[in-house]
Amino acid sequence: MKVAKFGGSSLASGDQIKKVFDIMKSDTDRRILVVSAPGKRNNDDEKVTDLLIELANSHIEKKDGTVILEKILERYQSIVEELKIKSPVMAQIRQHYQDLWQRDDLPEAYLLDAYKASGEDNNAKLIAAYFTEQGLESLYVSPSQAKLLVSDEPGNAQVLPQAYDELVSLLDIPQVVIFPGFFGVSEEGNIVTFSRGGSDITGAILAKALEADLYENFTDVDAIYVAHPGIVKNPLPVDVLSYREMRELSYAGFSVLHGEALYPAFSSGIPVHVRNTNNIDTNGTYILRGKGSSLYTISGIASSSGFISIYIQKFLMNHEVGFLRRVLQIFEDFGISVEHVPTGIDDITVLMRADQLEESDVDALLNKLKTDLKADQVYVNKYLCLIMLVGEGMINAVGTTARVTRALARKQINIEVFNQGASEVSMMFGIEESLEKAAVKALYEEFFEEKVDYQLMEK
Ligand code: ASP
Repeated sequence: MKVAKFGGSSLASGDQIKKVFDIMKSDTDRRILVVSAPGKRNNDDEKVTDLLIELANSHIEKKDGTVILEKILERYQSIVEELKIKSPVMAQIRQHYQDLWQRDDLPEAYLLDAYKASGEDNNAKLIAAYFTEQGLESLYVSPSQAKLLVSDEPGNAQVLPQAYDELVSLLDIPQVVIFPGFFGVSEEGNIVTFSRGGSDITGAILAKALEADLYENFTDVDAIYVAHPGIVKNPLPVDVLSYREMRELSYAGFSVLHGEALYPAFSSGIPVHVRNTNNIDTNGTYILRGKGSSLYTISGIASSSGFISIYIQKFLMNHEVGFLRRVLQIFEDFGISVEHVPTGIDDITVLMRADQLEESDVDALLNKLKTDLKADQVYVNKYLCLIMLVGEGMINAVGTTARVTRALARKQINIEVFNQGASEVSMMFGIEESLEKAAVKALYEEFFEEKVDYQLMEK
């Protein structure tokens, strides 16, 4: 049994939905279809979810929402017309938005989520109607009917453990189940969304609950690539990644799959297959719990800008019991989530995302660190790019760090922070933001293009 999830660009128009229909029809093991809201039809287009957020904000700010609402309805209307859907689904969609616009009982965060969730919800209804009219018996099932129970945290819901037992009943449905992604229902009865891109999470939750043999994640690229195609020209595709590799890569900028999405699949060992709706004959990328040996030490190079590091130095820091706790407490008091903390003997670097610290709070934070910790030096290193080299192959390879530093040194790129910390399968370092592209290219050449065997060269 397979759970198939299709992303927004795969469902952005009638033509795209026809491809999805063919894919679903060609394999009867595909019992569950998780859908996103219609995405962009081309680069200049807008995602329905973005339009819905605009509409929700108009509602909240009591502004006129007619133009945005028309744009949203037009997206669904054009799909209905393209697919010649006979069922009165379009009337239901119109009614849905009329009712939503009248609501004044919901707190803002829940109202926003109700709008956001409607993008996938309406798309699922429409697709179920189309599939059934085309002879593939399908049934729209809502997260509240199926009891996809989530925490009551608007915009950042987490699945509740009891949801898995409830969802099993989806297996009793004889038709193909068309399930909207991106949201669940809280025990209080609210519609609550996952973080953006969260339809991937819905797919993984259903795959786990139903013990699927495979979770197919259909998107608009042929595979996951070892480096960002916007930086490296024609990078190599990856055939197989391990869960750990994918998690580390998506953390640092690989956006093909939602970063958290794999957890439910990971925890029950369900293989994930990333595939292209528009090019179904290519291999795609498998993401598995373990993985076989690879030709390459490194499986991927990811990069993400927008970090800052705060350097703290104090002589004999290593003798002070509780020093690190006091450092972290100060960051917690400022409401800052810390990403990495590489430590030395007398120094600590705290890495965090820059958007968490208002310019006006910088001095207060530095003063607090300096005075409370009686530190010798505290300063900010601004705007770093973190580069993450990820690969299970690294565990047994000799000289990987040397290769990294050599490749970067050749291009005169200085490493500001380096962390080969707790994870065996990744290595992270920070460089000046403006050097991001040069660094990724240098590392790609070193690990994927260089034909010289490093160890031989050293001799
Ligand atoms: N439509 C939602 C978003 O744009 C969720 C998704 O597509 O996965 O974030």
